[in-house]
Amino acid sequence: MEEQAGVLPPQASGQVAASWARIRGRLREEVGEVEYRSWLRQMTLQGIEGDEAVILLPTRFLRDWVNSHYGDRLRALWQAECPAVRRIDIRVAQAGAARPVSLDAGPGAADGVAGARPEPAGLAESLTSRPAEMRAAEPRSDWVAPLEARFTFDSFVVGKPNEFAYACARRVAEKPASPGFNPLFLYGGVGLGKTHLMHAIAWAIREMHPARTVAYMSAEKFMYRFIAALRSQNTMEFKETLRAVDVLMIDDLQFLIGKDNTQEEFFHTFNALVDQGKQIVVSSDKPPSDLAGIEDRLRTRLGCGMVADIHATTYELRLSILEAKAAAAQVPVPLKVLELLAHKITTNVRELEGALNRLVAHANLFGRPITLESAHEVLHDLLRAHEKRVSIEEIQRKVAEHYNLRLTDMSSARRARNVARPRQVAMYLAKQLTQRSLPEIGRRFGNRDHTTVMHAVSRVAELMAQDASFAEDVALLRKMLES
Ligand code: ADP
Ligand code: MG
Repeated sequence: MEEQAGVLPPQASGQVAASWARIRGRLREEVGEVEYRSWLRQMTLQGIEGDEAVILLPTRFLRDWVNSHYGDRLRALWQAECPAVRRIDIRVAQAGAARPVSLDAGPGAADGVAGARPEPAGLAESLTSRPAEMRAAEPRSDWVAPLEARFTFDSFVVGKPNEFAYACARRVAEKPASPGFNPLFLYGGVGLGKTHLMHAIAWAIREMHPARTVAYMSAEKFMYRFIAALRSQNTMEFKETLRAVDVLMIDDLQFLIGKDNTQEEFFHTFNALVDQGKQIVVSSDKPPSDLAGIEDRLRTRLGCGMVADIHATTYELRLSILEAKAAAAQVPVPLKVLELLAHKITTNVRELEGALNRLVAHANLFGRPITLESAHEVLHDLLRAHEKRVSIEEIQRKVAEHYNLRLTDMSSARRARNVARPRQVAMYLAKQLTQRSLPEIGRRFGNRDHTTVMHAVSRVAELMAQDASFAEDVALLRKMLES
């Protein structure tokens, strides 16, 4: 007996509600409490439209997930309950849903527009998918950190120091859990783009594999969540929730050093996921082998996939990054200014960005264009702080390079003029550009006496006064070292 498609008698609405309750109950039994709570609990039935059951979910992400994982099952259950329903349509509930974050901010949404940073969108926020009323009664921070909208592959500038890590990240995003790339272990110093790459992987997976869940969190957050679960005797939920994701990303793993319980839990989660063919991505400031205080078996497992390091930036990379960021800010910044920043701020990309942002903010605030002068003015303190960092070794290296000598000549006993003179220049520059004392400088130049350094300093000053081309040479070296 088939009812006519498209028409459902009004008196049926009570039946529909009852059917819906049964369907939900059935699903709950089938998938289990944890999964149900994670994904399905927030479903509401909008109604029957024609031969379609219209089901609402609060986010696009949840909608996609439910559609791809439970869509067929939902349809079958509906059909069994109510043969008039032949299809289901899962939609995102319109406005009114109490959701401050823009769920449409996807990759690329951050491109362009200066100052208009889109709000970060929660990628796997559905892992927190509790009904609003429950959330209010039981305020808990999210399972998963929100993703930064501007941290995408598109906005990541690739250069020698990071090209390998970038390629690995792309590969993992394209083919999660492929052999040889699981886990992906990214490491590198502060501010070099580890978090950026991890978020980029998450965004890309969301786009290319919308059905897969990605959980991204810092190691600290992992620990905090785990401890909270222990306290509330709720570790089952913690374990199950994490073991249900397809991609688990833990940022700054070094924070787990010495935290034995948490490490243990992470180790088991790690194994469970890898055994199920799920992808793990981990970042740290050191390679696995240097993570003292991490259990051996965990360290071994961490190192058995792909280990990719992000090296310190080069001048070229810094300049490209600045160019990209200046273009995105849509504020004209003279090349000379970008070069100045790339020369002076060598520590990491975060500081580089900070300096550029300061210039841009200043220019916007006062409505004046950015010039080399204004840059010097605005960044006065920052540039000064970076100026002092010339090391004796850097001086020796530059000077040796300039005069075609080996670095070892700087501390050798050789007295030939063509070696001794450059060595004196290096000592002179060390005195001028560093805070080191004369004895200390002497020590660094092959254990020479401080009087030798004193002599070198006055000799070079003398020669500079007599010989313009020599003076120019030294000035050039100085400039290279200072910039
Ligand atoms: P880490 O996690 O390694 O400490 P982040 O990923 O937080 O560093 O990066 C610091 C800042 O520098 C971020 O704003 C990030 O977007 C930016 N950044 C780092 N590397 C790059 C790059 N190659 N291209 C563009 N931006 C970068
Ligand atoms: Mg980071």
